[in-house]
Amino acid sequence: MNRHDPPLEVDPRQAFALASAGRPLLDLRSAAERMGGMARGALAVDDPADWAARTLPADGMLLLCALGQRSFRIASALRERGIAAQSVAGGMAAWVGLGLPLADEVQVGGGLARYARQICLPEVGAAGQARLARARVVLVGVGGLGAPAALYLAAAGVGRITLIDDDVVDRSNLQRQVLYSDSEVGLRKVDVATRRLRALNPGIDVIAIPQKLDAHNAPGLLAGHDVLVDGADNFPARFAVSDASRRLAIPMVYGAVERFSGQVAVFDPRHVDSPCYRCLFPEPPAPGEVPSCAEAGVLGVVPGMIGMLQACETLKLLLGIGAPLVGRLLLVDALAMHWRELVLARDVECPGCGSSGADRLRRTSPLDPGSG
Ligand SMILES: [Zn+2]
Repeated sequence: MNRHDPPLEVDPRQAFALASAGRPLLDLRSAAERMGGMARGALAVDDPADWAARTLPADGMLLLCALGQRSFRIASALRERGIAAQSVAGGMAAWVGLGLPLADEVQVGGGLARYARQICLPEVGAAGQARLARARVVLVGVGGLGAPAALYLAAAGVGRITLIDDDVVDRSNLQRQVLYSDSEVGLRKVDVATRRLRALNPGIDVIAIPQKLDAHNAPGLLAGHDVLVDGADNFPARFAVSDASRRLAIPMVYGAVERFSGQVAVFDPRHVDSPCYRCLFPEPPAPGEVPSCAEAGVLGVVPGMIGMLQACETLKLLLGIGAPLVGRLLLVDALAMHWRELVLARDVECPGCGSSGADRLRRTSPLDPGSG
């Protein structure tokens, strides 16, 4: 390297100033990542060496990738071949995090600007956002748990959200099912929810399935999704989600509430050590054994909390970050505001996942699955 060479890395703000003055800014990310939005003035280029050979940029060029690491390596390699190139430090994540301008079509559609506050997290970044855009999540039940989960998943940019629920909005739902308004009492929940989620984020697909999930239709309706969010209000549906999760090898994010308490866990059949829902509750309880939400009651904010925890676990699974609640049952007592966690091991005698496993969790009776 010549001592007169400019630094290999350039601050995104300086890169924007240089690009505005005519310096070529090349976006090296994948086509899928670029679809989420591009920096203003950036060109989509897969092979910068080939592009430079054809274009011969007088003052060199700026290279932009997702996090600034790949562009740094490429800029460095190009320098050694005598091609002037600088890497934009921190990549697209830093560009968005600093609020630098994006291509107009992106700003109109929401695009990266919409997700700026999470793209600037290194654990998410532009690559993670593109991953969310490609993700498909199904919510079984759009009630007390499904309503907050759906809102946050749509806001986060999950590309396709499928809603399965055969119910209509009842006035007694409104205390906790925050997707619905008083004027929508009597309308089908999936239709109202679809409108609401599309209004929140026009960039995602929402698919409404006004059916009751059961063991028969579950495999067909749940196949093709990346995560199953269990917000069912009845045991047959919940066991159908669990069995389909095992059969289709799709993780299930479980949540349940009653009165002032709730619980959350992730059952991920892709992990050999993960328990399944039947490790916790081997068979559905006899009718009447467990009080329903309507009988036991629930403070509206409790399904809100649990549904949001389910949304959080879902996003972590989709992004492949953090430690999911696999093999752990999180119990929330909102009255004491006491959170505790039980180790939930795979049950050797489980009718769902059987075979090998460790110690069995001794448990109390199941909570009403009622999302309400
Ligand atoms: Zn099991």
